[in-house]
Amino acid sequence: MRPYRGRFAPSPTGPLHEGSLVAALASWLDARAHGGQWLVRIEDVDRPRCPPGTDALILSQLHQAGLRPDEPPVWQSAAAQELRYQQALESLAAQRWAYPCACSRKDIAQALQAQGEARERHGELVYPGTCRCGLRGREARAWRLLSTTEPGAGQCEGQDLTLSWEDRRLGVQQQNLTREVGDFVLLRADGLWAYQLAVVVDDGWQGITDVVRGEDLADNTPRQIRLQQLLGLPQPRYLHTPLVLGDNGEKLSKQNGAQALDLSDPVGALLRAAARLGLGLGLGLDRDLSGGRRFTVPEVLASAVAAWRDKVGLRHW
Ligand code: GLU
Repeated sequence: MRPYRGRFAPSPTGPLHEGSLVAALASWLDARAHGGQWLVRIEDVDRPRCPPGTDALILSQLHQAGLRPDEPPVWQSAAAQELRYQQALESLAAQRWAYPCACSRKDIAQALQAQGEARERHGELVYPGTCRCGLRGREARAWRLLSTTEPGAGQCEGQDLTLSWEDRRLGVQQQNLTREVGDFVLLRADGLWAYQLAVVVDDGWQGITDVVRGEDLADNTPRQIRLQQLLGLPQPRYLHTPLVLGDNGEKLSKQNGAQALDLSDPVGALLRAAARLGLGLGLGLDRDLSGGRRFTVPEVLASAVAAWRDKVGLRHW
């Protein structure tokens, strides 16, 4: 068995909020509960969306919360990483799993309208496969992955591919990749690497054995498993943690204006994050809140590791 290596992989589009601390804490706890290593990777491939300095802010927030990575953080924007994404794309293209695409969003919408069948997923149109059989003289804008069972070479209409995987919390999951997601983008029309490719290449390169992250990302897992299969990378175990909802019942996210995490009281922030993971810490939380002796960050973390072992176990939630 490969030695446990987990990671927290924030996109530095804004500082950590209470929801992202839950994901960071869960991945840290799982690594510690397994006696494994925990890494931090700054996922800044989408550079225009990452305000300067946000990466440093996130790293200092993690530090304040006592979550210290076992290796120096890695930035996806580093030249060495970009080279790895390029090599992965070239290998997929050489096997005819990846193909260039000339379609704009408008072209895609028109093609779907002509087919009378527009499928959408989280606001993204499911690509109708227009460029699967070649660009027909048009200029390539992006690169996509074929989501069917067979590679290209004139296979304009492949068979649907359904993937199953087991999540440590959600159980067995299934997705018809071809119909529900379609041929997804690996290299974007603006020249930026897509999250799906970068995350898979990096998890593989960093030897990540366990991905612990928020449930909002569960839906991406089949795309990532497919890329792992085609790139010959081992499949990590997955655990998707419950989403943190705001007072309005919506998922807390930077997009809907979640407040930056207040770490003037790191113990309080960790206790709230642990409570959101359903971890009873047996610390006498009331005593803490009622002005009794304050716990220290290491005490809270140690007790959270013990609670995680009890609740989640080493393999299943
Ligand atoms: N960078 C992604 C995000 O912040 C998370 C990636 C992952 O954990 O796989 O949403």
